[in-house]
This record gives sequence, C-alpha cells and structure tokens, in this order.
Amino acid sequence: MSLLTDYVAGNRRIVLPVAEALLRVVWPYRVPGASTSLEQTGTAVLAAFWPLVEQAHRETGELAREYYDAEREARTGLPPVPFFLAEHKRDWLAEKLAEPLIALHRDPSDARAADLAGAAVREVQAGGRRTIQRGVEADPVALGWARVETGGSSCAFCTLLISRGPVYKDAESAGESNAYHRGCDCRVVPVFDRASFPGRDQYLAAEKEWVKATRAAKQNGTDPINELRKRLQSE
Ligand SMILES: [Zn+2]
Repeated sequence: MSLLTDYVAGNRRIVLPVAEALLRVVWPYRVPGASTSLEQTGTAVLAAFWPLVEQAHRETGELAREYYDAEREARTGLPPVPFFLAEHKRDWLAEKLAEPLIALHRDPSDARAADLAGAAVREVQAGGRRTIQRGVEADPVALGWARVETGGSSCAFCTLLISRGPVYKDAESAGESNAYHRGCDCRVVPVFDRASFPGRDQYLAAEKEWVKATRAAKQNGTDPINELRKRLQSE
C-alpha cells in the first residue's frame, strides 16, 4: 500500500463514524414542525456538532501530520520539520453551518438534513487539508501541494482543478484550487518534486481530459465544463 492509500484509509476511519453521529443529530429536524425556531435549532445543532467536529478535526489533522512526515521522509530522506496542526474555532463552524441551517429550517427534508451534516463533515476534512498546507508553508524543501481525488467517481469540478496541477508556494494565490464541495473526496498532498508526487498521474490524465473537453467545446459551441462532465460520465 502506498503512503497515500494508507492515509486515505485512515482518514475514512475517522470521518465515517463522525459523519454518522452528525447525521443522527440533525435527523429529528428533517420533518416539518420539528424545529420551533431557527435560533433554537441553530443553538442545539451547534452545541451537539461542535465537540464532534473539534475532536475529529484534530484527529484528521494529526493523521495528516503523520502522513506528511512519512511522505517527506520517503521523498527527501529528511527528518520531520516542526509545524502545527491547523486549528479550528466554534465560530468558524457556526459560520459554515448558517446557510444549510436556514435551508433545513425552510425545507425540512432528508436532503437538507444531510446537507447540514455534510457541511460539518467538510469542516472535519479541512483539518487534514489545512494541516498539510501549513506543513508546506513551514517546510523549506516543500514546493507546494497538490489536490488528489481518492474516491471512485470523478466530478468535473474537481477534475478541472486537478488538471491545473500543483499549487506551488511561489504562486500568487491558490485561487479556487482550494475549494471543496460537500462530500468531496479530494485530499491534499505535499509536493517535494515536480516530476514525482502522489497523484501526478491523475493530474496528467485530468489535463488531457481538459484539453479534449475544451477542444470539443470549441467545435460544438458549448461550455468546456459541460463537455468535461459528459466525458467523465461516459467513462
Ligand atoms: Zn469533486
């Protein structure tokens, strides 16, 4: 097993149980009339979510830290550099939950409840992603980070971002490369060598797909992202 496969498997072991626990919290609110006021629901959900998210965020961060050190050693032969785990704050979580909470309050349904839990899961996953990005910033020999898809199905949004290649430290900004949709299985990996990093094959394949999609879009007078979506669905 590669270091990345190990990392992804470990990450799933942390995230799956917490995702289930979060879903259990929101499940009672998916029926009309379950929540008395938006404020009350918000307070109750945040109070129940926060300890779960905080702990799991720390765990995904710690695991990412271990992965970073292992990857660094394997690629450079160098011992670990000191850097900190990404932190998380209750207010940040509250901010991220605001929109899906309003949506659930307006439209109590299974889908909106799942969205709310999903928004919190995304915060849990940010613990791993941000920790690796911090490591890259603190590490004199790291060149940048790359986005790697780890699930079965590719989505056009992520394929497009992967096709742009790693985000190097000297880049002016990461831009939307650092955007993750709900349920996104993309992970962040450190890059120590432009010619060899985890997910490089995936990047090159995505780049090819994107070139084909833009060519097809030009021919058909369509949107390249839609062409890419079509290509991915037909795979
Ligand atoms: Zn995606």
